[in-house]
Amino acid sequence: RSMSSVTIPPPACMLRPLEVPLRYLFGPGPSNVPPRILAAASRPIIGHMHPEMYEIMNDIKRGIQYAFQTENNMTIAMSGSGHAAMECAVFNTVEPGESVLISINGIWGERVAEIAERMGANVHRLVKTPGGYFTNKEIEQAIEKHKPVLFFLAHGESSAGLCHPVDGIGDICRKHNCLFLVDTVASLGAAPIFMDKQNIDILYTGSQKALNAPPGTAPISFNERACRKMFNRKTKPLSYLFDMTHLSNYWGCDGKPAREYHHTGPVSGFFSLRESLAILAEKGLEESWKKHTEVVAYLYKGLEDLGLKLPSVTTITVPDGYNWRELLAYIMKHHQIEMTGGLGPSIGMVMRIGLMGYNCEKTNADKALNALADALKNCKKSKS
Ligand code: PMP
Repeated sequence: RSMSSVTIPPPACMLRPLEVPLRYLFGPGPSNVPPRILAAASRPIIGHMHPEMYEIMNDIKRGIQYAFQTENNMTIAMSGSGHAAMECAVFNTVEPGESVLISINGIWGERVAEIAERMGANVHRLVKTPGGYFTNKEIEQAIEKHKPVLFFLAHGESSAGLCHPVDGIGDICRKHNCLFLVDTVASLGAAPIFMDKQNIDILYTGSQKALNAPPGTAPISFNERACRKMFNRKTKPLSYLFDMTHLSNYWGCDGKPAREYHHTGPVSGFFSLRESLAILAEKGLEESWKKHTEVVAYLYKGLEDLGLKLPSVTTITVPDGYNWRELLAYIMKHHQIEMTGGLGPSIGMVMRIGLMGYNCEKTNADKALNALADALKNCKKSKS
């Protein structure tokens, strides 16, 4: 046999057509993508450095500035999921050995703490049980003690199901020369956030939740304070792909006349992100926030009528006498609805329901409630 002959045959699965079921994505993300955004993703590919692509990226930048309520020039979308934004924020603004303070009341703070540890930061944790709230006083005391260069808080803690207040924290960070980093992956478009007014130095989100774009891109913005810190560092950031010196040029944010090749951005992902931001701009932030508040209140009422306990936003306690995995499997099998269990410290304790953006309709709340009622009727008292 010659060296060039193929010894591994084409796999049988590759000779079958792609199959993707229709599902109601009522979990914590991704959420269903409306036809207009799906259509945007199916447009023909153009070069990632064509002038038309730069225009689309400029539109995305404006769309993010609106969604974040910021005038920050340093506003881009990551080629990658929410984790890319988490790593970008930490890698660029923190140098090895520097102190950071991470608030942890669910899984997301713990993730950011691990990311910071991996790059050699001196990590301090401010911990509450899942779903707990931090007072501004507690935060200030911890900042005074640890003198961090960065403080992290999740606005929408999707593993524990809470929306944390941010007012006043940006001012505390300023007073102590610390950057304020906020995660809004699970809350942007659903709950109000005002990057400039609330003195948030670094803010990021994801594409796949209330924005309703496919997963894979992540808006992020840095204000002047954050830029001063990240562009005056002594060491280069750990990641080449996430280095803001390069990304700011790729996104036309560094004032240089030309954009140089850095990496090939996800062209279709940017088309769909542009459309999702366009839909938000057309609808308006206030309208989007109002809709989420109304539908969540409606869903809560229905959940309470079913006798389910609500420890906090979007999460429900796994009811006594039920196996949560069985409930979720039943709902998926009989109703084509995805809901999910807990995550990290909340696993086994809660089930999570998300009705985000396009999915945020009372008719969908009814679908979720009917499915839950049916599951409660049929899965009773099975052993865990
Ligand atoms: N932060 C929060 C609050 C999230 O809910 C998520 C996604 N579940 C992430 C970060 C990470 O985003 P991704 O899965 O897109 O990397």
